[in-house]
Amino acid sequence: MNDPTKASDNEETPVPEQGEMNQVVDNKSSATESAKPCKRVMRFWLLFIVLSGLVVLLSVRDDLRQNAVESSEQAVHYIAFDMLGWSPRELFIWRLRMAGLLESPLGQRWTHAVDRASKKPIQAGAQYRTTETFEDDEVEAHIYQVSLERGEKLVWQLTRQDTADSRLYASLERRKRNDEHWTTISHLEAEGDTQTRIASAAGDYRVVLQPELFAKVDYSLAMASGGSLPFPVEGAKQRDIGSVFGDPRDGGARKHHGVDIFAKKGTPVTAVIDGYVRTGTGGLGGKYVWLSGGMFGLGSARYYYAHLDDFAVESGDKVKKGEVIGYVGNTGNARTTPPHLHFGIYAGGPVDPEPFLKPQPELPAS
Ligand SMILES: [Zn+2]
Repeated sequence: MNDPTKASDNEETPVPEQGEMNQVVDNKSSATESAKPCKRVMRFWLLFIVLSGLVVLLSVRDDLRQNAVESSEQAVHYIAFDMLGWSPRELFIWRLRMAGLLESPLGQRWTHAVDRASKKPIQAGAQYRTTETFEDDEVEAHIYQVSLERGEKLVWQLTRQDTADSRLYASLERRKRNDEHWTTISHLEAEGDTQTRIASAAGDYRVVLQPELFAKVDYSLAMASGGSLPFPVEGAKQRDIGSVFGDPRDGGARKHHGVDIFAKKGTPVTAVIDGYVRTGTGGLGGKYVWLSGGMFGLGSARYYYAHLDDFAVESGDKVKKGEVIGYVGNTGNARTTPPHLHFGIYAGGPVDPEPFLKPQPELPAS
């Protein structure tokens, strides 16, 4: 259920980029040659006109906006976001444009607030908590940033402290390692519930906050990051990892595709997720167990436990997270080394388990 490698960062519909726009323009210029692109352009413009109408209506007729059933406004947001890839923040920029404010110094200052704030983001580290205010005469954005390895878990709690019904634009964004561009992963509600995200790729993650123009907003934010899996050896900790991922093996002929967790022979090893097990004997692993989320191990990560002294399960057993599945030993090619669990994660290839096994994140107390 909580399979970290499976929990991919489903990116939502991206903002239409220059390329897509060009494509539309290209289609337009060749519209006389075929009917198909013409239809596409028609559909695009039709949608565009309808949406512009709605947005103008909502921004001009404030009374209408106030009285409109909330769900209908959400529906407009949904259509704009889903079909054109616009975020709530981009819709607000559109409304600024409609109100003739976008090119004003104030409009420009609002639009570029995130760029300014991203030059000096607040580093959230493993644990962070703050209570802040956006004053109504202040045009700024706040950015809280953290760097995560694949398999690390981010937990946050964003709470609106004031009771005004002005908007606070909040999003979780990601920039993959060696990438310059930020991608919005999801839009956040400041409702105070605890939310989590497991990093499917190494990179920087950030929470971006900005109120609408002239709004005073009080909020509190707590963030924490750490591992996403329970430790697979009872009573052991990270410091018991004696050999890490990528260490040379067989004189450099191959690499270590897991971590070795040293513990006394017979120490229980436990399932890191709910799933199904398959046991086996022989080869380098000696007595080993494969654990996967699905019955056939398809489409999800698989966890490999090797050098076991004995099994506590049989092939095909369904196990719960934390359930004992075997005991630490030194079978297979570990017969000449002290007893340890070789623990591996495979998800489209071997993955370094260490970030997954860090202590789990805990939000700092208020
Ligand atoms: Zn090993």
